[in-house]
Amino acid sequence: MKIIVMKFGGSSLAEPEKIKIMAERAVRIRAGGSGVVMAVSAPADMTDDLLALSRLITTGAEARERDVLLSAGETVSAALMAMAISGLGVKAVSLSGIQAGIRTDSVHGSARITAVNPARILRELKKGRIVVAAGFQGADKSGDITTLGRGGSDLTAVALARALKAGVCELYTDVRGIYTANPAIVPRAKKLPRVSYAAMLELARSGAEVRQFQAITYAAKYRIPLHLRSSFENGEGTRIGDFDHGGARPRVICFSMKKTGRSAEICLIGSKLDTPGIKKTVKAAAAAEGHRLRKITCAPGKLTLTAAFRDGEPLLKALHETFIPHAPRKSRIQTADRR
Ligand code: ASP
Ligand code: MG
Repeated sequence: MKIIVMKFGGSSLAEPEKIKIMAERAVRIRAGGSGVVMAVSAPADMTDDLLALSRLITTGAEARERDVLLSAGETVSAALMAMAISGLGVKAVSLSGIQAGIRTDSVHGSARITAVNPARILRELKKGRIVVAAGFQGADKSGDITTLGRGGSDLTAVALARALKAGVCELYTDVRGIYTANPAIVPRAKKLPRVSYAAMLELARSGAEVRQFQAITYAAKYRIPLHLRSSFENGEGTRIGDFDHGGARPRVICFSMKKTGRSAEICLIGSKLDTPGIKKTVKAAAAAEGHRLRKITCAPGKLTLTAAFRDGEPLLKALHETFIPHAPRKSRIQTADRR
């Protein structure tokens, strides 16, 4: 049986209605004949709320106990999701991290996955059930609950996808995919249909909170095909895989921006960006808009520049304009031909 892993982020599980909509998504995929394994995050802000709650008790909580507490958020989601699926008349079972076979080291708060034993999940799939695994949790050698670091449900999903030899690991969130830049800042930003592991790693590393860095590292290492999709729309999303954006010439695929303290750091992510011509073009584009760059460093996959805090947005727009081509207009003749 073909297996699909579907991971849902907290914003997609924030309310009972949303949980029901995501349950419908899973049921539709199951009806297509695939085995469905879901990995779910805690609803909305539950993890932060639990963390705040623990701080009201003590600021010196033991890491072990904090993990027991924080893992509760994902347990809530998994149980509610299984109930929602059953409510639609389809068999489902929720599993904790360890029941789903996630074994980790003992580093509470940022545990590393040491092994995944998919036996229980495979048994449940055989019984025709949709499996809902609680994301973010695992257990160490002594059976103690561990958590995989913030955003760790992504890692649960990719690790399960690998262990189950899933055809794809679908990551559902409230965004439509990866854009050439944040569309809130650059309205002309385009959604990218495909992004390479290398570019995605740079994007995750640059601090753009797109996906958990460890999860992307894991997916890249084991070549797990990812598909980033919107929870609330049926668009094509963005596929992450062994794509070659390359060609012989330098190419910018997308931008990220991080503002810290008094400066803005912009990253150009792509390939062959250490070619001297690129640095020149960046400097010229900035100068043309009257922005001064404080620092600029180049690596093949990423060019990083620092500018004044208030220059961040206009500079990002200017660089996007310089490096990302406008979509070619379809000529009238072509349109007529097709008719
Ligand atoms: N709930 C955890 C967090 O907020 C894990 C996750 O969302 O993936 O970090
Ligand atoms: Mg969360």
